[in-house]
Amino acid sequence: MYMKAVLLKSLGERPSITDVEEPIERDGWIKLRILRSALCYRDILTYKGMFPQAKTPLILGHEFTGIVSGDYPEYGFSNGDQVLTLPYTYCGECEYCLTGRENLCRRREWYGEHIHGSHTEYILVKPQSIVKLDINIDPNYASIASCVIGMIINGIDNAGGVEEGDKVLVTGASGGVGIHALQIAKAYGAETIAVTRSEEKAKFIEEVSPDHIIVGGEFAKEVKKLGGVDMVIESVGEPTFNQSLRSLKWGGRMVVIGNVNVKNVDLQLGLIILRQNSIYGTLSSTRKTLYKAIKLYRLGKLRAIGMEMKLTDFDKAVEKMESGESRGRIFLKP
Ligand SMILES: [Zn+2]
Ligand SMILES: [Zn+2]
Repeated sequence: MYMKAVLLKSLGERPSITDVEEPIERDGWIKLRILRSALCYRDILTYKGMFPQAKTPLILGHEFTGIVSGDYPEYGFSNGDQVLTLPYTYCGECEYCLTGRENLCRRREWYGEHIHGSHTEYILVKPQSIVKLDINIDPNYASIASCVIGMIINGIDNAGGVEEGDKVLVTGASGGVGIHALQIAKAYGAETIAVTRSEEKAKFIEEVSPDHIIVGGEFAKEVKKLGGVDMVIESVGEPTFNQSLRSLKWGGRMVVIGNVNVKNVDLQLGLIILRQNSIYGTLSSTRKTLYKAIKLYRLGKLRAIGMEMKLTDFDKAVEKMESGESRGRIFLKP
């Protein structure tokens, strides 16, 4: 049996929709029928060769939800179960795995990088990567519960959390990470400030009702008028980094998630020392933050925002993301 897949033949090449053989069930793995596979900027960076350890030929994609195909009583999964997934497998035995930080496991294998990913119809996953759902959940939300929602929660938790009334600024606020980061900060009771590049994007952002929206690249001055922020969720990277740093209050924290152009930043150490600012890197999510993502959904505090496209329109989806034309996440339907 053949299925459609976004196949990367070698690093640096553009992937293409290709007919590949359906995966054959094997011990220790569970077969899923993909319901939704979201497009992540990491997919683009992967095919451009920014992750040289990626193994080709490779099916891209790591943000997904699916239905269990077959019965796996030894792991507690049955045919038809809908599951959420972590974007990687992990060893379960190392110091990171044993302390709830499986996202840092050195024996981790990433779907769509080291092993085949989800931009296709069927995938084999490790049982430890999946979580069975006991509620009905929007497949779009389920697909990003880990790499987007769980990752943002991981970033916020890792940076000491957000308290009610804290001011939180989100850059790239109309993007797949930004629009959900605003919702999460709001769910935590923060006063939210969205930064975006155009009035048209600002209109879209109004959908999640941030307390303030600032349009334009020079936003630090405007943020200072609001008294500065306790936390920045930096979903863009180098282009907004310095303005973000200057938007922080004394003691403020920056959670770095985006790295769109993979460029170095100019960092004035004096600025972070004298103001005791902290910068936190964020890598993906853990089982713990995935559960938190489900909890916030159950409470009705979060929803998936973006556009659905066909898997076979992968090229168009990439164009939309790269040109900045996409709003929220792009959810690919096989
Ligand atoms: Zn991702
Ligand atoms: Zn491990």
